[in-house]
Amino acid sequence: METEGERRRERLSSRNPLTGDEVGDFPIMGPEEVRGLVDTARAAQAEWSRRSLEERAAALDRVRRLTAERSEEIARVIRAETGKVLGEALFETVVACDYLDYLTRTAPKALLARRAGTGWLSHRRARVVYDPFGVVGAITPWNYPFTISMSSVGTPVAAGNAVVLKPSEYTPATGQLVIELFAEGTGMENLVVLATGDGGTGEALIEAGVDKIAFTGSAETGKKVMAKAAGSLTPVVLELGGKDAMIVCEDADIERAARGAVWGAFYGCGQVCMSVERAYVADGVYNQFVEAVVAEARRVRTSDEPEAMVGSLIAPFQLEKVESQVRDAQTRGARVLLGGRPIKGPGHFYEPTVVVDVDHGMDLMREETFGPVLPIMRVRDEKEAVQLANDSPFGLDASIWTRDPARARRIAGQLRVGSVVVNDHLINYTIPDLPFGGVGHSGFGRVHGLEGLREFVRPKAWVEDRLALKREPYWFEEGSSGEGLVRSLLKFRHGQGTLRRVGAALGMLRGMKR
Ligand code: NDP
Repeated sequence: METEGERRRERLSSRNPLTGDEVGDFPIMGPEEVRGLVDTARAAQAEWSRRSLEERAAALDRVRRLTAERSEEIARVIRAETGKVLGEALFETVVACDYLDYLTRTAPKALLARRAGTGWLSHRRARVVYDPFGVVGAITPWNYPFTISMSSVGTPVAAGNAVVLKPSEYTPATGQLVIELFAEGTGMENLVVLATGDGGTGEALIEAGVDKIAFTGSAETGKKVMAKAAGSLTPVVLELGGKDAMIVCEDADIERAARGAVWGAFYGCGQVCMSVERAYVADGVYNQFVEAVVAEARRVRTSDEPEAMVGSLIAPFQLEKVESQVRDAQTRGARVLLGGRPIKGPGHFYEPTVVVDVDHGMDLMREETFGPVLPIMRVRDEKEAVQLANDSPFGLDASIWTRDPARARRIAGQLRVGSVVVNDHLINYTIPDLPFGGVGHSGFGRVHGLEGLREFVRPKAWVEDRLALKREPYWFEEGSSGEGLVRSLLKFRHGQGTLRRVGAALGMLRGMKR
């Protein structure tokens, strides 16, 4: 007989981390339902792909306007499902609108077929056209449930695809809003459809016959996604976790660097893939920096009030992870200068925490923490800072704090990451024209920018007639392997001296006339 544990749940309810109240109740979809969604989306895609690039862009612009109009309502749902503060929830809608605006302006030009050079085949014409994949499966996390879902849906849709969106089980109501916005903006009910459920639903989506997977989440799940997609050779874009380093040089504006560190580490309760998770500070300014960070971090107000600076962690599992990493660091000799404890009461709060005397033997410096903790490490010089920053399986972003632009560029060039910011952190994600993505365990492929747009098209190469010949000189010829033509071609393309090249060209033309 089936035990309680084996019996699959049929519904999930997302709950407010601050109050425990139910926000929404949704089905946990299994393989059959998910396959049905993919079929429905595929039928819609056939119609959508016939629309011109301009029509698609106009539809995305309507989605943007609707998002802006409904931003307060959207922010309330985001806050209810994640426990984040109101300002951060609202900011999700701004980033989404900016990105949709970028797509509206850029996609029609970026996805236009382009002429390609034909090399020695001057009697031919060549072009590259950008075909949509078909149906894209977008699997998204809970930490930026609106922004990331809007981008994971908007980009493939701009490129002519349909999308099945599988939001996190913590944020299905936010996912539902994304579906509503695209349905109204595009005027198509089934172009973007919602697959609610848990990790099993995500697995079902990968196996449901989608043409590409856009996955954003942890490195651990990313590996599972890639393994499952390998079965059908379905291509994947993986946007995974991070362990962002911040490098503070001796010549940095220390007051600014300290304020930036506190914001970069504690914004979003540290639950941002690109949070500052490690600070490496030059010996000469270390004491001054640590003192300034502690003073600044004391001002950070964490609470369940909408206007607090930092809100709740998403769920108890996240609180346990943060606590365990800080405890482990302490047992290995780290000192907690500020915070270091959960905050009692409703919600899953943890004090903004500053830790020093850390090293790379600690999980706190190696694993993604995803919480409001800033470990600071003293370094001898720039060289050691770069070496330690690169000593990580992750490689999402990094920041460099210095007054010297040449030094910043020198360091940036040595960092093994997807993005670098000088004298700030996090903000590169809000610049829609910049590609975003990582290296190593932070994933591969890019979202945003032209590079992100091209992730969701298959470039198709076309060769056409410019001048029709009766036969091609390189086709089979009785009694010859074509060596004469190949020698002429070699001389024409790569020979020394104009005369020899002209002679070779005439030889080739004679061959073509025959
Ligand atoms: P998870 O990896 O736990 O989950 C991400 C999504 O994958 C969720 O929708 C989840 O569903 C689903 N999922 C879980 N198991 C499977 C599976 N076996 N097959 C397919 N899908 C599955 O990440 P979190 O939601 O906890 O998000 C936090 C992580 O995301 C952090 O590591 C963070 O750094 C990273 N992230 C990366 C970003 C980037 O752009 N690089 C941006 C934002 C976050 P369910 O929730 O229902 O289990």
